[in-house]
Amino acid sequence: MTFDDFKFDESLMEGLYSMGYKTPTPIQKEAIPVIQEHKDLIACAQTGTGKTAAYLLPIIDHILRSEKRHLNCLIIAPTRELVLQIDQQIDGMGYFCSVGSIAIYGGNDGITWEKQRHALEEGVDIVCATPGRLIALLQSGKINFEHLQHLVLDEADRMMDMGFIDDLKVIINYLPKKRQTIMFSATMPPKIRELAKHISNDPVQVNIAISKPAAGIIQQAYVVHENQKEPLIKEILKNEDYQSVIIFSSTKEKVKDLEKMLRKADGSVKAFHSDLEQNEREEIMRDFKGKRLRVLIGTDILSRGIDVEGISLVVNYDAPPDPEDYIHRIGRTARASKAGVAITFINQRDQVKFFNIEALMGIEVQKMPLPVELGPGPEYNPEKARMDARNQKGKGGGKPFKGKPRFQKKK
Ligand code: AMP
Repeated sequence: MTFDDFKFDESLMEGLYSMGYKTPTPIQKEAIPVIQEHKDLIACAQTGTGKTAAYLLPIIDHILRSEKRHLNCLIIAPTRELVLQIDQQIDGMGYFCSVGSIAIYGGNDGITWEKQRHALEEGVDIVCATPGRLIALLQSGKINFEHLQHLVLDEADRMMDMGFIDDLKVIINYLPKKRQTIMFSATMPPKIRELAKHISNDPVQVNIAISKPAAGIIQQAYVVHENQKEPLIKEILKNEDYQSVIIFSSTKEKVKDLEKMLRKADGSVKAFHSDLEQNEREEIMRDFKGKRLRVLIGTDILSRGIDVEGISLVVNYDAPPDPEDYIHRIGRTARASKAGVAITFINQRDQVKFFNIEALMGIEVQKMPLPVELGPGPEYNPEKARMDARNQKGKGGGKPFKGKPRFQKKK
């Protein structure tokens, strides 16, 4: 399944790709179709599963398709930090479309508050708020939910633990009865099911666990310019502790080029790809398993299903497309509770992709210093890389200034 299957608006797809999202995560695969069918949803998914995009994408898409723009969606989250994170994701995904959001939380100064109030009067599509501040706004009559279509409760269990249940009940009384209710919760204790029963209508239930790499794997990454990859791999392979090595690259062509390049330095290297005859592939695998072949190079096809013991090193010569592939690839090492090393090369273009992989796994991979003779590499700054990629798209437009009314239709 790819994001194309959801048939999102083109401008939203642009935002999504500029965020570095290539393939939907499991929670996105399950939740997006349910939300698109306007059914209520109760999803058990933790931070790090891609849950925020799982509800934001179909809601933003729905907003973009609406004839008339009103305040369409209310997202309630327990903390100011989470509210800000959600608002940032709306900014990122909605960068190429005119969807307007506002983050409302307690504890900010009078000027911010005045700005928020003004933006609300002018019109936004999505309000993202903590319960306490939202109640204050509702009671002051400054916010009109008459046309609301989607209610999202994010981290519902945490809101309950923080004692927000009564506030939530008050807020929900202000909302139209006919709406879509979406609840995300990291855990699903009985009190959450009870709440769901009261505020939603025959919800579809979805449960997702996060994939995590095996514990014995030492994960490292080098932040490189593309032209530093070649000398770096040669340098790494000089380490004789790495007796059995798999190198992953992104395409068949690159796999073949790498084979040629590495063969000059070390004879015991073979590429594994679909242009080989069946018997050639079997022979390569036999040699690799029997430790007569030291280095095997392949694409992601190689990461699924090969079961070879004692692989000491996996190198991602090109960063993998998504966390699932990353976990499959590095899972080739450290099998049967032996330690193994997994090294990823991150060029500037892949920084955003790798940052998302780290975020989804909830792990920060150690960034290694480059050997001095290779010269300095780029700095690891995924946010800057994301902005550079956007600027290169040459749209020149992007999302209007935050705080302005955003009800204008796309041109
Ligand atoms: P969340 O679980 O919503 O907190 O998301 C965790 C991280 O994963 C965030 O940094 C998201 O930007 C990122 N993310 C969400 N969906 C995807 C996707 N389909 N591909 C790659 N990264 C994603």
